[in-house]
Amino acid sequence: MTAVPVNLLDFDLDGLAAFCEGLGEKRFRATQLLRWIHQRGVADFGQMSDLARSLREKLAGRAVTAALPVVSQHESRDGTIKWLFDVGGGNAVESVFIPEDDRGTLCVSSQAGCAVGCRFCSTGHQGFSRNLSTGEIVAQLWFAEHFLRRHLQSQERVISNVVMMGMGEPLQNYDRLLPALRLMLDDHGYGLSRRRVTVSTCGVVPMIDRLARDCPVALAVSLHAPTDELRDRLVPLNRKYPLDELLQACARYLASAPRDFITFEYCMLDGVNDAPEHARALIELVRRHAAEGLRCKFNLIAFNQFPQSGLARSPMPRVLAFCKLLGDAGIVTTVRKTRGDDIDAACGQLAGGVQDRTRVQERMARQRTVALYPARAPARKAVS
Ligand code: SF4
Repeated sequence: MTAVPVNLLDFDLDGLAAFCEGLGEKRFRATQLLRWIHQRGVADFGQMSDLARSLREKLAGRAVTAALPVVSQHESRDGTIKWLFDVGGGNAVESVFIPEDDRGTLCVSSQAGCAVGCRFCSTGHQGFSRNLSTGEIVAQLWFAEHFLRRHLQSQERVISNVVMMGMGEPLQNYDRLLPALRLMLDDHGYGLSRRRVTVSTCGVVPMIDRLARDCPVALAVSLHAPTDELRDRLVPLNRKYPLDELLQACARYLASAPRDFITFEYCMLDGVNDAPEHARALIELVRRHAAEGLRCKFNLIAFNQFPQSGLARSPMPRVLAFCKLLGDAGIVTTVRKTRGDDIDAACGQLAGGVQDRTRVQERMARQRTVALYPARAPARKAVS
């Protein structure tokens, strides 16, 4: 029986070094391989000219660099690009590239669906299918980076920031997430700064502590409510890890974090969590935990409506009043700019088009041969 080839996107540097040693090769070959694959975007071992021919032949029989098939690609008027990737078994995940003047951010998925089931989240309503492998998480970045370099005709790195804020709760897929994060940070991989790689969680407390030990990167926490009573209803995981436990974990995390604050994401829901008393309760909550060392910023997010939620977006004057109350209390607060909403790529909208599995499977079948490099290349400056 022929062995299934190993996907080299599944490995961080240590994993690849172990694989090379298993082939009877020196560890430094892993560094060369990592550079070819991740820095140059080369998948064909035959093109890796500084590898010995004997190694290339060994690799050709035993390993692949497995890209995810692209089901669709949409580009927003504001330059945001969303890809839907086929991960098999009728499942698809989305990644979104958000260009800005001083950075290029890729929002990456960690699971097909999500088991947490937050009330306001389109992915949560889809249900959970499975964890992505490390290779499937990395393949989103690998594809996007090298596609964008060609698309924008850039020799420079295009993606400067990665946020694990796509589909799924990344800390519920920790063992696969960790090598992917290490690869993002590795100078032979993507060489991203720890401050520019963000894991967003709805509050898996034990895993926040593990992340602090294993690979501290920037941390964003989906808070969305100032009391357990309300948060239990919006973010069901709160029943397991209530607010005080979560904020204590955030304070501990700061001891190893690359930034000196935690970002709290707060989705503004009309008549649910957006009143002045909610802002005052948040201020009180944050002040109570400041004594433990908690420092934070708030990011207020406009809710992107979808019919099944039964929720509505807060009117902008109320969002601004909420922002002012927090700001006047000395808490740095921003209102997140909505990006890509004309292609359903805004925060919380991911998987909106993936909810109907039958429809997605039909689309996958139709679009398996989608042209990856459309002829129309919009004139837009590269981000670096
Ligand atoms: S907000 Fe995050 S954790 Fe909550 S359901 Fe959506 S993807 Fe899952």
